[in-house]
Amino acid sequence: MICTQSLGYSYPQGPTLVFPDVDVPQGAVLLLSGPSGCGKSTWLALVAALVAPTKGTLTVADQSLNDLENVAADAWRAGAIGFLPQKLHLSGALTVAQNLALAQWASGTPEDQAAIQVALSALGVAELALRLPAQLSGGQAQRVALARAVLLRPQVILADEPTASLDDEAAADAVGLLLATAQAQGATLVIATHDARVAALMPAGVDACRVGFSRPG
Ligand code: ADP
Ligand code: MG
Repeated sequence: MICTQSLGYSYPQGPTLVFPDVDVPQGAVLLLSGPSGCGKSTWLALVAALVAPTKGTLTVADQSLNDLENVAADAWRAGAIGFLPQKLHLSGALTVAQNLALAQWASGTPEDQAAIQVALSALGVAELALRLPAQLSGGQAQRVALARAVLLRPQVILADEPTASLDDEAAADAVGLLLATAQAQGATLVIATHDARVAALMPAGVDACRVGFSRPG
């Protein structure tokens, strides 16, 4: 479902990154680890078709991402990818429910309040629907951002450093929530992290693929 061969990306004004080959089946969990600066966020951007590879091949959810034009990439991403970015990017002027409605609008699907309520309920934050992001705790904001990420039931969930700056208990909650959400939706889950706690938080029943990146030489 995510398959890369000799994948690489060169920043025009930065390093050339070369990634180990990855082949993960639908519904699997991929744990992407490595020190800060090794290219984890860049790899997620490639898998989300936010940038195009400069080397190698990349197929995600049966779609080759090597030659996707911008407009096609936007349409594909809206349906296939749920992104939980490190910085959550909730719109501060909009309520929680409006932030989710914005995601529907941006993807070209009709606003669907029932689907918004279902997504918020699944993440235990339905009662926060009318709050503004500034009125949420960090953990609540992350739940809302995850609800937004999975609102359109993507095949792939990408989480970038989901435990950064969380204490042990909140980190365990965040990882548990991601696993449960991906499993409930049958989605493939990628967690990119430099946090060694995450590997230790994988339950015994979860057969996670593990790929380690190293810094460009
Ligand atoms: P990680 O997420 O593992 O910390 P990143 O993917 O953010 O790593 O970055 C990988 C490397 O690419 C780092 O050396 C970083 O400095 C560099 N990099 C990231 N974004 C840019 C950019 N827009 N322009 C130039 N270099 C970049
Ligand atoms: Mg990163």
